[in-house]
Amino acid sequence: MVTESKHLELELDDKRYIWHPFTQMKDYVKEKPLIIERGKGSFLWDIYGNKYLDGISSLWVTVHGHCREEITQAITEQVKKVSHTTLLGLSHPPAIELAKRLAQITPKGLNRVFYSDSGATAVEIALKMAFQYWLQEPNGCSDKKKFVSLKNAYHGDTVGAVSVGGIDLFHKTYQPMLFDSLKGESPYCYRCNLGKTYPSCDFGCLTQIEEVIKKHHHETSALIIEPLVQGASGMLVSPPGYLKGIRELCTRYNILMIADEVAVGFGRTGKMFACEHEDVAPDILTLGKGITGGYLPLAATITTDEIYNAFLGEYDEFKTFFHGHTYTGNPVACAAALASLDVFEKDRTIIELQKKIEFLEKGLKRFWDLKHVGDVRQKGFMVGIELVSNRDSKETFPLHNKTGIKVIMEARKRGVILRPLGDVIVLMPSLSITLQELDELLKVTFDSIRSVTTVNCKL
Ligand SMILES: *Cc1c(COP(=O)(O)O)cnc(C)c1O
Repeated sequence: MVTESKHLELELDDKRYIWHPFTQMKDYVKEKPLIIERGKGSFLWDIYGNKYLDGISSLWVTVHGHCREEITQAITEQVKKVSHTTLLGLSHPPAIELAKRLAQITPKGLNRVFYSDSGATAVEIALKMAFQYWLQEPNGCSDKKKFVSLKNAYHGDTVGAVSVGGIDLFHKTYQPMLFDSLKGESPYCYRCNLGKTYPSCDFGCLTQIEEVIKKHHHETSALIIEPLVQGASGMLVSPPGYLKGIRELCTRYNILMIADEVAVGFGRTGKMFACEHEDVAPDILTLGKGITGGYLPLAATITTDEIYNAFLGEYDEFKTFFHGHTYTGNPVACAAALASLDVFEKDRTIIELQKKIEFLEKGLKRFWDLKHVGDVRQKGFMVGIELVSNRDSKETFPLHNKTGIKVIMEARKRGVILRPLGDVIVLMPSLSITLQELDELLKVTFDSIRSVTTVNCKL
């Protein structure tokens, strides 16, 4: 533990030197920063020794909790062997073993693993791969250069990933920098753009996407989608059958399907991969976030032999995939990922998770009693609680109210760390959380929403 004057120095230097991501620094510097020093299991401790329940798996990554012995050990052992060696023309055991295991556990046909170091880069790679594939595949469909993406989509913050993003708040500013993408309707049932209700809607959103594809398939290389849950736009859960419908459209109109499982992969939805729920195999799969159990940055873009084969040719034909990052497939990160997969097996994580998902589902019912809760969405261990100022009209709170932020600050006072998406309160605990801890998380979230929204009402 650091000394008292050291605490103050850290707090000052944090505000003085760090530009925090997705953070209005003008507000940030007014508050005392929360500086985390260590973690264990579902908990984090700040520099003063205060303990917090981590309700968002440290931004959706810690699958088995913090400081899991097996993963720490795997990392330590790998560091003693070698910390980094490149995959550009060389190879190393952890990358090889991990690629094999990923090929084994991901949906059928996905055999070729291309590593990178963040979700956004995994998406960039998927887009470039799809684009180049059509230029080089045997029939030479060189017109297929566009992408279809969904409204409310989030695929990362790099320029290509933003081009296929659909969250105006994050993406609008950068519009002039982006390439065009064709936009499909989002399966946001609570606020359906088509004014329909599931299931009587008969998948109107899919029909709209089909119209876009019907018109543009000859010039479209791929459709990119977050399977089952559009995460960053507020945990928008698509209705059953939707994903399968997307797969069928892509097949029927001969465009590639990119499934971005950066958020939903590694058990989040109750199965290892979200695509499994609807027995869907995409042409390209992107993985990140939970891949190392949340210990180190790593990502993967996995594709089929068919796509891979289109990049084979003579040296001077330049069919090579000209892409790579310096830390691509870092051995320490790969060792962590392998250890995390071992823990999945040892703990029977997915099996044990099922009763926790049920418990969570039951626990969330009570949130409907809060009159400013407009919608409660859950898929497995992904939860979004959408707060509204008026439940009947679904009217939102005024932005300057910062309702979501107030709720998570209230939770923080009660020893729980959350991070909202606007006025959607997100719960994304580690899959290893105990029922008792989960109960505490629900209780604090409930009390925090009640406390904040009751005050807001009176204003
Ligand atoms: C978080 C996320 C990304 C971006 O991952 P980074 O590691 O933050 O670059 C991409 N796609 C989805 C679906 C995500 O949730």
